[in-house]
Amino acid sequence: MAATTLRCRECGTLYPADPLYVCERCFGPLEVVYDYDALAGQPLRSMFASGPRSIWRYEALLPVERVPEIDLQPGWSPLVPANRLGRELGLRRLYIKNDSINPTWSFKDRVVGIAVAAARQFGFEVIACASTGNLANAVAAHAARAGLRACVFIPKGLERGKVVATGAYGPTIVEVEGNYDEVNRLCAEIAEEHRWAFVNVNLRPYYSEGGKTLGFEVAEQLEWQAPDHIVVPVASGSLLVKIHKGLHELHQTGVIPTVETRVHGAQAAGCAPVASAFAEGREDIHPVKPQTIARSLAIGTPADGRYVLRIARETGGHVLAVTDEEIVDGIRLLAQTEGIFTETAGGVTIGVLRALAEQGAFRPDDVIVAYVTGIGLKTLEAVEDHMTQPVTIKPTLRDFERSVLELVG
Ligand SMILES: *Cc1c(COP(=O)(O)O)cnc(C)c1O
Ligand SMILES: [Zn+2]
Repeated sequence: MAATTLRCRECGTLYPADPLYVCERCFGPLEVVYDYDALAGQPLRSMFASGPRSIWRYEALLPVERVPEIDLQPGWSPLVPANRLGRELGLRRLYIKNDSINPTWSFKDRVVGIAVAAARQFGFEVIACASTGNLANAVAAHAARAGLRACVFIPKGLERGKVVATGAYGPTIVEVEGNYDEVNRLCAEIAEEHRWAFVNVNLRPYYSEGGKTLGFEVAEQLEWQAPDHIVVPVASGSLLVKIHKGLHELHQTGVIPTVETRVHGAQAAGCAPVASAFAEGREDIHPVKPQTIARSLAIGTPADGRYVLRIARETGGHVLAVTDEEIVDGIRLLAQTEGIFTETAGGVTIGVLRALAEQGAFRPDDVIVAYVTGIGLKTLEAVEDHMTQPVTIKPTLRDFERSVLELVG
């Protein structure tokens, strides 16, 4: 669907579907408006099922139309039954949504796929972003495919894997001497002065809708059911809010019968403004200065933090935080039980999943989906000292038998 209208999430004021993102009256965020009643009259399940194996199968509930010649085909990642991890945690119906299977190996390809199509529609020539790493990577790749110029802004000190992987696509990379929140503020200022498509600033109402596809896909992969619980990593909070929205849109349009999903948010203790507010029963988010190995989640002033809080509380979920040590344990646990090597954000998800299991948040037969949103190869330096190290031997049978056999057991 091509959106025609935006609406303020706070006061309801309507705007034309332009590159606008903030309400002039109340500074609330703008959201795309859909005609759910009209959509409910269409055979959506079969429309989705016959669509491409990518985010674009859900085009009817997306704000822009697919542009085939620039499509990198993000999405349709595997939903893996996690039997061995589940046994470890006492959960019989645990699934991992492995969203590291994407063109640039993180969920950001979903949101950028939408944003690039929107940038084309609005006639932008430069596409840009404020990023904690994965977004820059995705913007650079999708811009290359679309033949757009890209300028990505990152805070100093990101993981090498993210910077090198981004550089491969040839964008302009601007490393800002400051943290993500300062980068983001700078980008908002630039977007006021220059006609650039900042995917997560002036295109945010379109971009963020891509997150819904992680709700749509899981419901479809569960044969059109909403899970009982989801565990979602939280940086700005957009992804969590949009997965929840996606599940409810499926209900509103008659695609799934009910949604009673408890929505849990996962943060790193070194950057946990939402988890702290949740624990202290506050409504307002107190900004923090991030200090964590989970750099992709290191946003100290999360734009959607208040909505995350509201959704977790309304659905009976929790927002928890885990330490850097627990993050590394989570990465190892997932790799060693399921063969999936995730980045630090995935370690946050698995750490919080484990904490929730230990505090009895799940019944043994609940259907639980944990979102693993990025690949481990981009955050090697955060974990390299904590992983199994090679043993070195001479190329002789004797050395092998002396040093290796008992290790294998
Ligand atoms: C960006 C990102 C998230 C979540 O981001 P939100 O800002 O909360 O939408 C989660 N995991 C990874 C790996 C990311 O890069
Ligand atoms: Zn408003």
